[in-house]
Amino acid sequence: MPEPWLFYPEACLAHLTAGHPESPERLQVIWQALEHHQILNHLRVQAPQPVPLELVQRIHQPAYMQSLQRFCDQAGTGRRIDEDTVVSKGTYPAVLAAAGAAVEMAEALTSGRCQQAFSLVRPPGHHAMPGYLMGFCFFNNIALAALYALEQLGLQRIAILDWDAHHGNGTEHIFYQDPRVLTVSWHQDPNWPGTGAWQDQGEGAGAGYSLNVPLPTGSGLKAFELTWQQVVLPALKRFQPQLLLVAAGYDAHHADTLTQMGMTATGFARLTEQIMQGAEQLGNLPVGFVLEGGYNLDGLSNSVSATLLTLLHQEAHPLREQMPAPPETDSAEALQTLIQNLHTHPLLRKEKPV
Ligand SMILES: [Zn+2]
Repeated sequence: MPEPWLFYPEACLAHLTAGHPESPERLQVIWQALEHHQILNHLRVQAPQPVPLELVQRIHQPAYMQSLQRFCDQAGTGRRIDEDTVVSKGTYPAVLAAAGAAVEMAEALTSGRCQQAFSLVRPPGHHAMPGYLMGFCFFNNIALAALYALEQLGLQRIAILDWDAHHGNGTEHIFYQDPRVLTVSWHQDPNWPGTGAWQDQGEGAGAGYSLNVPLPTGSGLKAFELTWQQVVLPALKRFQPQLLLVAAGYDAHHADTLTQMGMTATGFARLTEQIMQGAEQLGNLPVGFVLEGGYNLDGLSNSVSATLLTLLHQEAHPLREQMPAPPETDSAEALQTLIQNLHTHPLLRKEKPV
């Protein structure tokens, strides 16, 4: 089995955010954990190029790109650009670097040069909209990677699985009318940004190609596993993607203060393992992870380590979590109702999808 590739553009560290939870330390602690757990020496580390602007313009509006660049150029070491998000002079280069990593990763996976890869990037991307930034996200890294693979590399069907605790609303919006990309989002319900109801399933030509799995507050591994087995994997088998991209946010970790979910690092290892088994069943699909959220530094670094250990077929149990996970909320009834509802989704009904 070839080694997993790690795409790590150092320019992502230059996005300074003046004490904001979406900080350069996030990448630094992950890197240290990968060294500490002897993971890094099993990965092939790549220093990717910034994303080409012509590709970004296929999703994002030029006026937005220019005004973002101007604002960042004048932002010094930290200036608020909206009520949630801080930028600095290094932000725009970091934004280009993060998207570039995801795009190069898609290229390496699609060409068969690697089979599994992880993009260690920030700022995150899954809330970014075509014409505006949202929730610490500027350009939609994973959407740009998917579009590149469709338009430049000749793929026809890509699935994006988003396990960040917030709804992947930007990614969903970008592909909402596009049948070539199945977007799947697990997220805490209710939570910001408030979208991602199970009834939202795409529209127009994309009807039936968005899948939302809103999980009850406090949900942990059991809820992810159950919905993976009973909803997401069957939908993927129907959709038959050629590439799996994972919007890997780690704010569902129980120590994260931005959300109230019950995942653990070993839970992320287990979920990764199941997704890798699914990728094998789907025809040995290449799988690429793009870092999204995750703001508790211990929870984040342990969980990313657990994901990568799983790709290396190593147990994640040596990781010591500082805080024990709280007992999972008993949401069996709510989950059964959700699963029943999702079985009306076009990809899960017996007849052919639209
Ligand atoms: Zn998030």
